[in-house]
Formats: sequence, structure tokens, C-alpha cells
Amino acid sequence: MSAIVQSIERAARLPFARHYTLCVATTATERKLLVDGEWVETGDWFDVLSPYDGSVVGRIARGGADEARRAVDASERAMSDPIPAHERAAILDRTARLVDERAEEIARTISSEAAKPMKAARVEVARATSTFTMAAVEARKLAGEVVPMDASPAGVGKVAMTLRVPIGVVGAISPFNFPFNLVAHKVAPALAAGCAVVLKPASQTPLSALLLAELETEAGLPAGWLNVVCGSAAEIGDVLVEDERVTLITFTGSAGVGWKLRERAVRKRVNLELGNATPVIVAADADLEDAATRLAANAFSFAGQSCISVQRIYVHASAYDAFLERFLPRVDALVVGDPGDDQTDVGPLIAPSERDRVLEWIGEATSSGAKVLTGGTLDGELLRPTVLADAPPDAKVSCEEVFGPLCTVTPFESLDEAIGLANGTRYGLQAGIFTSDVKAALRAASALEFGGVTVNEAPTFRADQMPYGGVKDSGNTREGPAYAVREMTEQRLVVLQL
Ligand code: NAP
Repeated sequence: MSAIVQSIERAARLPFARHYTLCVATTATERKLLVDGEWVETGDWFDVLSPYDGSVVGRIARGGADEARRAVDASERAMSDPIPAHERAAILDRTARLVDERAEEIARTISSEAAKPMKAARVEVARATSTFTMAAVEARKLAGEVVPMDASPAGVGKVAMTLRVPIGVVGAISPFNFPFNLVAHKVAPALAAGCAVVLKPASQTPLSALLLAELETEAGLPAGWLNVVCGSAAEIGDVLVEDERVTLITFTGSAGVGWKLRERAVRKRVNLELGNATPVIVAADADLEDAATRLAANAFSFAGQSCISVQRIYVHASAYDAFLERFLPRVDALVVGDPGDDQTDVGPLIAPSERDRVLEWIGEATSSGAKVLTGGTLDGELLRPTVLADAPPDAKVSCEEVFGPLCTVTPFESLDEAIGLANGTRYGLQAGIFTSDVKAALRAASALEFGGVTVNEAPTFRADQMPYGGVKDSGNTREGPAYAVREMTEQRLVVLQL
């Protein structure tokens, strides 16, 4: 079946299929794979469709096991001729500058393939500049430590130190929702650590990843250090799992796929950054204006498709009505529409099936007693920002990851009760509390079972140098260049007899 027929069939399943015939003739970017410094065709192509209007935004060479194996070969060859740290740092700095220079083009690419509103896409690009800049810093200061050998009788007369050596070829698998900056969070620390990378980006959003690869090449990265193979996740994933030369897999995506990869790759380091069902506690003494403003923005940005999108809001019963008076108008003021429009806050979900799943979860919650305070219906084909009250703790919206424009609000009587409710999920990525009581903040920070806790800030907050990652089903590692570089290097002990 030709690529064009396949894309028409896929587009027909999209909500905006009627636009498709108008859009199909517009210019779509054609992209090849990057293997061993060459842009390669495979004889097979797949189309990337806009989740908003079904137009073809890119045509990508489809790779598979063969290209993945060649990419691992190229990575191994590249690593046999290491690049000194100062040169790796300079390449990362140049990449940061190129990202900055081409920020608008990158934001448009993100927006077109992921349907991310331009406001949010621009923030993602600015964050990627920071990710590369921080990785360059880490490349420059990568060092081991001196071991105090005469601290035991056995070590007297010896000097010892550790070196940090690259772990080996890194297999990187990235999700659709931050298609540029989360690729940066894998590629930049790997290069800082001295590791070559085989990247498999999400099939919905390969254009941003290939653009990043183009910028790396332009910044002077030699052949083989970054290879990008798009196509069958199972085939490419199998090569990354089975090839012993790939010593670390860094995966960001859903918990089901991530933990399965880890189960299969028992002899590798498999670093997982997975989902969340993000809770936030609003105490009676919180600044309600500030909490309402931050939470309304962070529950619905990119239609809730962030792993730390605010999903469950627990408000002290005495402040519940006052909070809702401030929160609901801000939710209703969000602009729903075309992600390419500068004014839009909330666009579509990545696929109609995802929108339908969220609608189903709303139905499940309302049939077990939840009330819709706003939203719950479609605006054209787009799901309106939805706030539910009285959702039972075992409803999917209360404990699973919604990954859509929806949050719940629930009153509580005591901080312990709120912490218990917040912890009532298999996930543990980030959580938050709004309070003016420092003791309550610290109590929450120690009792919330999450990788990060924000105080008087939405738990959606992330700066790219932070140690970011989860516990429980949310993952097993920390990203942020300083932390990822440590994961991507091994300590080698050197002992000298004097
Ligand atoms: P996903 O469906 O798990 O896909 C993620 C990546 O895994 C894609 O590149 C996908 O390829 C690939 N993949 C799928 N099956 C595979 C297999 N058998 N072997 C190897 N790779 C495979 O996740 P998503 O829908 O793109 O992203 C949303 C999820 O990511 C949410 O759960 C979100 O919370 C999580 N997330 C977590 C973080 C974090 O830092 N903790 C950040 C962002 C997102 P295809 O696209 O080709 O299927």
C-alpha cells in the first residue's frame, strides 16, 4: 500500500478528517534517518500527521532492526575514538546556541507534530537550550575522586582514585509529549559522559528529534556519536535490549512499556522516567489566589499531556469553596483551539482514541458519584478543560494517570488525610503543597512518597538541572544532566603502590 494511501486511511480516523483533503497537498517535511553520520533512506516511508487537523506534516524513512544494528555498529566505532571533554563540551555549547537561534522553527515543528500549543512549545525549546548548556558544564567537570587510602592499615603506602568512564553505547527511547527537550535530556548527558547514542523517538513525533540531530551535526558532532532510527518500536527496541554493546537504555514513556523493557534487559542499566497521577495539597492557610492561578495553568497546559500535569487537587474543607471560586473562572478562561495559534492554551489530545479514553474515564467517575464542575464535553472535536468533584478514591481519575485535560478537586479535614489520599496511587513522580506553614510543608515533603515535592509551586514545575524522577511505578532514576551523566558513566578504581 502506498504511503499516501496509508496516510489517507489514518487521517480518515482523525476527528478533523474533513480538513485532510485540503491539507494533504501542503508541504510536508521529508526526513531520512541518521546512521553513522549519513542521512539514509530505507525504501519505506511513514507519514506524521497533525493530531489537530490530520494534515501530513512529515514523511519519515521507516527503519527497523537492520538500521538499529548498523546504528549500534556505528556507535561502537565512534566510541573507539573518544572525543576529549573540552571538545564534547564545546559541541554541546554550540548546540545550545543553534537551538536558541532556530527556536521558532523548532517550536513550530513541535507544535505541528505533537499539536502542542505554541506557548508551551516555545517554553520547551527554551528549556532545551538550558539542558544542553547544563550538559556542557557537566562534560567540563566530569571527574572521579581521591580515595583516602591510609584510612585503613591495608591502604598505607598506596594512593587511589576513581575515574569516571563512559558506560558504553546508550540506547535512548523517547515519548511524544516533549519531543525535543526529552530527547535533549537523553542525548546531551550521554555526549557529556562520552557515550554514543542510538535514539528511537516516538513515532508520532520524530521530526523534532531529527531536527535536533541535524543541529548536533551542524555543531560539529562527528559521525556515529548520534544515530536516530525511527520506525517499528518492537524491532528497534529488541535490538537495543538484545545487543550486548548497548550497556544502558534510557527510557521515558509509559510505565507498562518501561517496566517490560527493564524486565527483559536484565544485564543492562535500564533507567526509567515514567508516568504520574500528580497530586497537590492546598492547606487552609495557603495563598488561594496564587494556588488557583498556578494550578489552573498547570492542570491543562498541553491538554494535560505532561507526566507531572496537575491531576488531583486536595483542598482543606474550610478553604474549599473559596478555592473553587478562584480556580473555576481561571479554568474557564483558558483558550481551547488550534495549537498553532499564539493565544491557545489547550489543544487536542495526541489521538482521538486518547480523547475517547478520557471521556470514558469521566463517565466512569460520574457514574460512581463524581460531579462535573466544568468541562466534560467537547468544544468542536476538542475536550474542554474538565474539573470533577467527589470522584471516589478508587475511580481511575483518582489513582491512574489521566494524561488529559482533567483534574479532580477533593476536600480534606487533616493534613494526614490529605497525604494519605495523595499517596493513594501506584505512581510517585512529583507532588506539591500550598501552605504558609513551614512545618506543614516539611511534614508533607517527608511523608509524600514522590521523587520531588514542590512547596507553593505547582508540582508541574521543572527546571532542567534539577534531579528529576520518580519512585514506585514512576521510575527508578533521576534525569537532569548532572545526575544522568553519573548514570551514564562507571567508576573505575585506580590503585597506585608508592
Ligand atoms: P509510550 O507509548 O510508552 O512510548 C514511549 C516510547 O516507547 C516511544 O518511542 C514508543 O515508540 C516506544 N515504545 C513503545 N513500545 C515499545 C517497545 N516494545 N520497545 C521499545 N520501545 C517501545 O509513551 P508515550 O505515549 O509516548 O508517552 C506518554 C507517557 O510518557 C506518559 O505515561 C507520561 O507520563 C510519560 N512521560 C514521563 C516523563 C518523565 O520524565 N517521567 C516525561 C514525559 C512523559 P512508538 O511511538 O513507535 O510506539
